[in-house]
Amino acid sequence: MAQVDENLRSAEASCIRGFSAREHDVIAQVGDLYRARTAVPCTKCGYCMPCPNGVNIPGNFEQFNYAHLYGDVADARFKDQLRISPGQRAINCQECTTCEELCPQGIAISQWMPKVAALLA
Ligand code: SF4
Ligand code: SF4
Repeated sequence: MAQVDENLRSAEASCIRGFSAREHDVIAQVGDLYRARTAVPCTKCGYCMPCPNGVNIPGNFEQFNYAHLYGDVADARFKDQLRISPGQRAINCQECTTCEELCPQGIAISQWMPKVAALLA
């Protein structure tokens, strides 16, 4: 019940235009920073999957973007080793371009995969 009361208080306090102009500016600036540091605009929707050669396309882009976003290649490599099995890594891309017709973001996946492989290997 305490949680319900807390939720009700929170709902009563929230409203349309609840943020100040300054707060909207901060949110917009953070969004711009994230976008500027995101190398590949992959949303991890998975529409490009499955890859006929087993590549985990969104998983590889996630680690590639992580490396750029936080400037931490070593940690991105560590996570890649942990989360992506050898058969799913970018190195397995044959650049067939099958996935590219399915990507709503229009990402040139076959051109990115060798770069992903080079960075995370
Ligand atoms: S281009 Fe690479 S990632 Fe895309 S479907 Fe072909 S092998 Fe898979
Ligand atoms: S379809 Fe495009 S945006 Fe979606 S997961 Fe695949 S590469 Fe990322």
